[in-house]
Amino acid sequence: MLYKNPLYRKKRNTYPLQVSCGHCKTSIAIYAKGGKGNLIKMQLPRIIESQIDLKRNKGHLRCTNCRRELARKGAYNENITYWIIRGKVNTKRLDNYRI
Ligand SMILES: [Zn+2]
Repeated sequence: MLYKNPLYRKKRNTYPLQVSCGHCKTSIAIYAKGGKGNLIKMQLPRIIESQIDLKRNKGHLRCTNCRRELARKGAYNENITYWIIRGKVNTKRLDNYRI
């Protein structure tokens, strides 16, 4: 990944999840996912690293390769949060990832 997220904050009971574009399979981010179930949103402080410079990214989240929109920028608990557009990303749990 190109960018470590300087705003990332460690949180307990999360695991690293690779998030990639559902269309062209380009890896977009590593996210500290909590709980069970599908990925619904990515809160900025839980994004560990990304292909996108999130500090500068103003709009929605787009694939760096095919430019398709993957998530919409919004807020959750006062954190900048990218809400995943349903069906647009693939996720994979990373068991051997070291932060
Ligand atoms: Zn793509």
